[in-house]
Amino acid sequence: MFVSTRRTFLKAASAGLAAPFAFSQAPKIEAAPLGDNLYLLSGAGANIIARTGGDGVVMVDGGLAQRAAALAQAVAALPNAGTVKTLFNTHWHPEQIGSNESLGMAGAAIIAQENTRLWLQQDVTWPWNGQKFKKLSKIAQPNKTFYDNGALDSGIRYGYISDAAHTDGDLYVYFPQQNVLAVGDAAYGQGWPVVDWWTGGWIGGIVGGLQRIQSVVTKDGNPNTKIVPAVGPVLSPADITAQVEMYGTIYDRLNQMLNKGHSPSEGVAAKPAKEYEAKMGNPDEFIRRSFESLWAYLSPDA
Ligand SMILES: [Zn+2]
Repeated sequence: MFVSTRRTFLKAASAGLAAPFAFSQAPKIEAAPLGDNLYLLSGAGANIIARTGGDGVVMVDGGLAQRAAALAQAVAALPNAGTVKTLFNTHWHPEQIGSNESLGMAGAAIIAQENTRLWLQQDVTWPWNGQKFKKLSKIAQPNKTFYDNGALDSGIRYGYISDAAHTDGDLYVYFPQQNVLAVGDAAYGQGWPVVDWWTGGWIGGIVGGLQRIQSVVTKDGNPNTKIVPAVGPVLSPADITAQVEMYGTIYDRLNQMLNKGHSPSEGVAAKPAKEYEAKMGNPDEFIRRSFESLWAYLSPDA
């Protein structure tokens, strides 16, 4: 009894010694199938989609730069993988563009809405927390931009989410064969979204972007379409409908408070998302940014 207890203790102790090394390593990149030759990769800082087979791999978003090498390895290990020929940037944030440099140097087409390229060729500082983002080198910038929509030879379609749901350069990518719609941060799978009003996003745009996703599903998809956000689990069209209602309600309440001359702090204090807090978590940061986004959007100078 004593021996086995001591052995257990020694095991625990050696596991404890190993732990600092284990914890210093980033999480493994995990791949889950979404459909034929289509995979969802997680652990790179955002959900990544990779379509293998056909004429080269197509990726939606590239994760954080510090995870790019691990992500490239994970993509190369997928069934029917080959050279990555096409990378979409759903918007300009660091969780989306971390593979741009390596794939740009390798000659991949990097597709983005033109506004995303414009943000990536300048330094950006968020005024609410001082966070700084460095512009990308020329080779890492999107090299195939569009304004409205486009398609790849393989039938994959993409389009601009022009409502400024998250930034002013959001795009969606639709994979008709697998009935999968990638939407970046225009919809969140979990938690409150970042409202990046500095680069165009606003609370009214969140509602408009979700409605645009609904119309893409109506036109191209069906009730079984898998909607893949950059953050959190895969969503259904019914989930998007519920989000339209929730964000629409919050948008109306904030608008009313704005019209009464209230400040962002008063907006937060009024708890305009109270019935959603149990499911969604503390909304204060989201409400403050949303209120500021109304100012940014409605200001005549904007
Ligand atoms: Zn984002």
